[in-house]
Amino acid sequence: MSTMRYAVIGDPISHSLSPVMQNTFFACMDLPGEMIPIHVKKKEVPAFFSSLEAEGIRGFNVTMPHKEAAMLCCDALDDVARLTRSVNCVVRTEEKHAVGYNTDAEGLRLAVEREGFSYEGQDILVLGAGAVTRPIAYTMAQTARSITFANRTQSSAEEAAAFLKEHTECVTFSCGFSAEVLSAAASESTMLINATPLGMQGVDAQFEDLSFLDALTENAPVIDLIYRPARTSFLAYAEEKKHPVMNGLTMLLMQGALSFQHFTGVMPDEGALAAAYEVLKNA
Ligand code: NAP
Repeated sequence: MSTMRYAVIGDPISHSLSPVMQNTFFACMDLPGEMIPIHVKKKEVPAFFSSLEAEGIRGFNVTMPHKEAAMLCCDALDDVARLTRSVNCVVRTEEKHAVGYNTDAEGLRLAVEREGFSYEGQDILVLGAGAVTRPIAYTMAQTARSITFANRTQSSAEEAAAFLKEHTECVTFSCGFSAEVLSAAASESTMLINATPLGMQGVDAQFEDLSFLDALTENAPVIDLIYRPARTSFLAYAEEKKHPVMNGLTMLLMQGALSFQHFTGVMPDEGALAAAYEVLKNA
């Protein structure tokens, strides 16, 4: 059987861990596939879609900053991708249609469950209201009791809350990002998720004040979507306060596993997931 070609596109793209992860899945699942990184600028996204057949590309992942541009180029979309205008996985069908999916949202849900947590019945505080927030919050809202968005630009938090109000039954709140406001929100929350780049390797900005974590409900799981470094100061502080914590590596793994399933029709088995996790951890 000839090798099936897949890609990941973004700008920049050299940092992407998708090729090493997907190629580990292909090897472990004994399927003849290969993923390559392709640098695509925003204005080139439509042309990239048009080139798929000529290039023999059967599907691709989409990373920053093209998730919305990719959504606009797809012929069909899953619900999360359509409602949140965010596509991170595209598959070409036999009829040559490009179908767009969002696997970030379901990837985080699966990751949370693999780590022994659940959104169900939780009062979740989400820090940040950027591109990844709406997809993940839409999925949380299916079973959470309430979701509060806290964001530096408060109007974006308000828009995220209004979006959930429109599309789900979940109770939603929004607030700003000062230490006092975060403390008040944390005291009402049973799960906390950092969806800002604060503390990420290569980003200068850090949380200036982590004392809001002192107010968080006892034993509330604390999740950072960042995976480099593995322990941000946010997670280290939460751990000191005896909260169970997880970083973003399992989310990265599971959104990739779901993409692999869209590409090939097969979910990576536990051996493939464990091998890819090791590869990602050491990449
Ligand atoms: P984004 O669209 O750039 O949004 C960034 C968010 O962080 C915005 O709400 C922004 O607030 C806030 N922010 C940025 N700098 C800040 C600062 N100095 N102080 C306070 N708030 C600040 O990013 P994204 O795509 O949503 O991604 C968010 C995080 O999730 C990133 O760290 C990314 O690496 C991570 N992520 C992880 C995975 C995974 O698989 N583990 C997948 C996707 C994303 P404003 O609105 O005020 O600008």
